[in-house]
Amino acid sequence: MSLPSEVDVAIIGAGAAGLGAARALENSGLSVLVLEARDRVGGRAHTIQVAPDVTFDLGCGWLHSADKNSFVKIAEQLNFEIDKNLPPWRERAVGNAFPQAERDDFIRALAEFYDRAGTAAVEARKNDRDRAASALLEPGNRWNPMIDAISTYINGAELDTVSILDMDAYEDTNVNWRVRRGYGALISAYGARCPLALNTQVKLIDHSGARVRIETTQGSLSCGKVIVTVPTNLIADESIRFHPALPAKVDAARDLPLGLADKVVLALDEPDALPKEGNLRGATMRTAMGTYHLRPFGQPCIEGFFGGRFARELEDAGDGALAAQSIDEIAGFLGNDYRRKLRPLRESRWAHDPFARGSYSHALPGYAGMRAALASPVDGRLFFAGEATSPNFFSTAHGARDSGERAAEEVIAANTARR
Ligand SMILES: Cc1cc2nc3c(=O)[nH]c(=O)nc-3n(C[C@H](O)[C@H](O)[C@H](O)COP(=O)(O)OP(=O)(O)OC[C@H]3O[C@@H](n4cnc5c(N)ncnc54)[C@H](O)[C@@H]3O)c2cc1C
Repeated sequence: MSLPSEVDVAIIGAGAAGLGAARALENSGLSVLVLEARDRVGGRAHTIQVAPDVTFDLGCGWLHSADKNSFVKIAEQLNFEIDKNLPPWRERAVGNAFPQAERDDFIRALAEFYDRAGTAAVEARKNDRDRAASALLEPGNRWNPMIDAISTYINGAELDTVSILDMDAYEDTNVNWRVRRGYGALISAYGARCPLALNTQVKLIDHSGARVRIETTQGSLSCGKVIVTVPTNLIADESIRFHPALPAKVDAARDLPLGLADKVVLALDEPDALPKEGNLRGATMRTAMGTYHLRPFGQPCIEGFFGGRFARELEDAGDGALAAQSIDEIAGFLGNDYRRKLRPLRESRWAHDPFARGSYSHALPGYAGMRAALASPVDGRLFFAGEATSPNFFSTAHGARDSGERAAEEVIAANTARR
């Protein structure tokens, strides 16, 4: 499509945040257009059918904090079935690689770590002295490398780069559900009626004049207000530029880098030999390890999950490295005949994705306050959303969506104030 020459509100990015903003502006009387660089909506939410009987979420898969997750109601409205079974990562150990008794001991150590983090956060708020969460690892505890591995899954980064205050601000209600047809599929259905320009990469936001001018790969348009929802790494690298420059936003984005989490899905022959919804991982004393979800939704496949520096190393090694690592690790746990039973179907490469450059944000030690700094509007015309701006549900899809709604409300309030 060709771009209109002007709109009231341009929204940059058609991920959960951008779609949340567009939906919240639906009845505002303002003309809206979502500008999206990719040829699809959803951003870091992307469901694909990798085999006739295997649906796979390359990005978000879990409705985290499901009892407070705004996508739950949306799923119900859109007739997307929600699976409320417990996630496998705690109780459903499979095989002898990490027996349940060891797993219980590890979970105890992890809970103690989080307790120390909670206490340290109270202190840090009092003294205004944030630190790296790695400071809370108990010296010599045998589970430290695995606690760090969990951080690479949750934060996309090891604890030495994660702020204690930021970690503490995240609201985890420990209720995690799933969408049977895929979280990405739900988010694209949610955005189905939003006014969109796909394949439209925004290069420059010029807010020097009376109206904001946006330069894109499909031409330029003028608008009254803009909601920017692109991932922090793209603002930090100035892959999207502002004129006049906004150094405070670039700094905030740099202090909220995207960590890395990657997924792989492997087709599984003779699936009935393994339980549905099991979890497989080793009691390794390394942080560089995968965690494996066996037969999610009963499908004939295994999903692997990697985070942090190890995920980056595997991505850098090239396409196929995540699958090769997974097959080696799984064969080590379950026996060598699994080498012939497993076949790579697809793996993500979020760090190499030009419109993401990572998976989800964490605040660097000392910079938890940057989420509010990134979220704050500029001149009543530039508004900011995206998972990184969420005060308590950052790094998640529902946090992103809610932030889009918040930015839309700010736009409406600014418009009313001007009248
Ligand atoms: C492997 C992985 C697993 C995850 N697991 C979960 C999970 O289980 N549960 C959960 O809640 N969350 C999870 N997440 C996080 C969740 O996917 C994200 O937090 C959320 O989707 C981010 O939404 P957003 O709208 O903020 O950003 P995005 O989805 O990144 O949307 C931003 C959009 O902006 C577009 N864009 C970028 N640059 C430009 C430009 N210059 N011009 C125009 N458009 C541009 C992008 O293409 C993108 O569509 C996971 C993420 C990954 C990668």
